[in-house]
Amino acid sequence: MTATREQELGDNLEAVRERIEAACVAAGRPADAVTLVGITKTFPISDVRALVALGVRDLGENREQELKVKAPNCLDATWHFVGQLQSNKARSVVRNASVLHSVDRSSLVKALSRAAVEEGRVLRCLLQVSLAEYGPAGAATGMSRGGVPPADVPELAAAVAAADGLELGGVMAVAPLGSDADEAFGGLETVASRLRSEHPGADWISAGMSGDLEAAIRYGATHVRLGRALLGTRTPLG
Ligand SMILES: *Cc1c(COP(=O)(O)O)cnc(C)c1O
Repeated sequence: MTATREQELGDNLEAVRERIEAACVAAGRPADAVTLVGITKTFPISDVRALVALGVRDLGENREQELKVKAPNCLDATWHFVGQLQSNKARSVVRNASVLHSVDRSSLVKALSRAAVEEGRVLRCLLQVSLAEYGPAGAATGMSRGGVPPADVPELAAAVAAADGLELGGVMAVAPLGSDADEAFGGLETVASRLRSEHPGADWISAGMSGDLEAAIRYGATHVRLGRALLGTRTPLG
């Protein structure tokens, strides 16, 4: 960790906190209504430690291979897993993360529940909601590909709520490329408020990334997931 990198991360963090605060003020929400989750994918453990030293308490990864290396090396953060998850990696995520943002099918719920019970852990689970209906037709690719259609949220929510070792925490979404973020996150807010009327404890909305956090905060995001704005440009992993 060079002094300049530390300085850079500190400056980025300050700028990001200012953006979050301004968005909260504009939305008439308290400044502490939104939790920053630093997405450290592709960045080294030295950056992870520097962020924690700067006061970032919540960190996230989108690949199981990276999570299982970084999380045990930084136990004083709360770890979030935000990527698509295969059932055979469920146990590793249960061991290394406290929050999973990407529950999208009932077969995964079964695998997670079994692993959580066997590991003696409780995993907070957010349902990843597909906002594909707000994107250009047929254009859902990459990160916005995943997720359960809004109509199927009640059934998946009931499965998580009934599962031992899992706690239903709320919803997560990625605005599709080419969508109007306000429309997409407005749709997510509607899904979230329906979910809360059935499950009052499921009150988290994980929405907003470096490019669209202001729109997400306008529509009730409680957790923003920030990579580039905090850490800089990513070099893609192979
Ligand atoms: C990488 C990633 C982010 C962070 O994206 P940035 O545009 O770098 O802020 C957020 N959510 C998920 C699911 C991601 O994979």
